[in-house]
Amino acid sequence: MVSFDVVAEAGEARRGQLQINDRTLETPHLFPVINFYGGGNEGALFGGGVHRTIKEFLAHDNEVTGGEDYSDLFNGVMTSISSLADYGIREKKLEWYLDNEIREWECFSDYDGMIFADSGGYKILKQGGLEGEDFEKDIDQDKALDIQLDLGPDIVVNLDHPIHPDDEFEERIEKMEQTAVNAARFAERRDEVDGACYLTVHGYYEAMLERSFDLIEDELAEPVPEAFDGIALGSLVPRKDNVEVLVEAVSDCKREMQQRGYEDLPLHVLGISGNAMPLLVAVGADTFDSASYLHQAINGKYCVNLFETVPIDDANFDACECRVCNDDFHRARMRNEMDDLYQKDILGSVAAHNLAVQQRELRKFRQLIAEGDKERVAEYLEEAVKDQKGFRKFAYQLINERINPYFEETDTTYA
Ligand SMILES: [Zn+2]
Repeated sequence: MVSFDVVAEAGEARRGQLQINDRTLETPHLFPVINFYGGGNEGALFGGGVHRTIKEFLAHDNEVTGGEDYSDLFNGVMTSISSLADYGIREKKLEWYLDNEIREWECFSDYDGMIFADSGGYKILKQGGLEGEDFEKDIDQDKALDIQLDLGPDIVVNLDHPIHPDDEFEERIEKMEQTAVNAARFAERRDEVDGACYLTVHGYYEAMLERSFDLIEDELAEPVPEAFDGIALGSLVPRKDNVEVLVEAVSDCKREMQQRGYEDLPLHVLGISGNAMPLLVAVGADTFDSASYLHQAINGKYCVNLFETVPIDDANFDACECRVCNDDFHRARMRNEMDDLYQKDILGSVAAHNLAVQQRELRKFRQLIAEGDKERVAEYLEEAVKDQKGFRKFAYQLINERINPYFEETDTTYA
């Protein structure tokens, strides 16, 4: 059973409840990317360096968490079938990994959040399939779904062919057609999925999105809302640093969804998080996924807020209200003051903090939307971007035009 209920709105931002079987997720929400299989064995939570530390947080390993419960950071997680072979494994190991669903492994049996199993379209397209030490597997829509289902997911998505900013027009159309054909094949097998099926659409602006939706509708045997439980907007990762493009893409996608009568479906934005999230929530995005919390930590960066990072050595833990920073155990880890610490332990605590910062902002946002007051949402955005030169002008424009049109006439005072 899958349902998505919008429980409050503030302008175009919405707060919702996504229910999939017996799991419920409050939206807007971020699905952190987790690599469940890091080339190792079950006793070591399948290894994977910092990825392993994150899994130790997720699986309540007290030696890593310091005894605290951090499960609220992982109410929903994203994993990709392409990550199965990230560590150059042998085919035997791949088969062993796929023999049990993630929650059937003892070490993850307590994990009760949602698992969003991505088809890994971008990577698979780039590599031509799944590649290990002694195998190469071509991946098509059917094989991708077979592997996704082996993981025991709550959400699956069709195998997509993301477009790239450098693609010629013909190439874009060809990729969109392939994605549409895959979506139709995926819809034919939806009875095999005990959870939610999301449809990927691609494009940065209205004409592209219109084409993407048209091609999908042409291929499908039934209307989109009958075949799918959600929409996932892809191809934005190469543009992730251009917030103007991101906002336009999400906003145009919402408009297309409204015009086609799909506005009741939740909208997921693939591969985007951090500083863009508040603005994308403001124009109606419901969920996100990202590995940025982890990549920042791996690069030695500690998040001060959604917009800024500092080197770990410069971090002021007193200024952060998250549980990680308020725990002497993690402070000692992040400062590398304990004996025999592995790099993964230092960076793992930093990654948990980075994730806590992003989840906290979304929690605040959910509360604001629940109050249903557009002005509070606008104030929150203004406060969030006030020191962000590159963002400010664009954020104010968005506030004035989309959230709080009442202030339209004072536009120039903000610029
Ligand atoms: Zn913190």
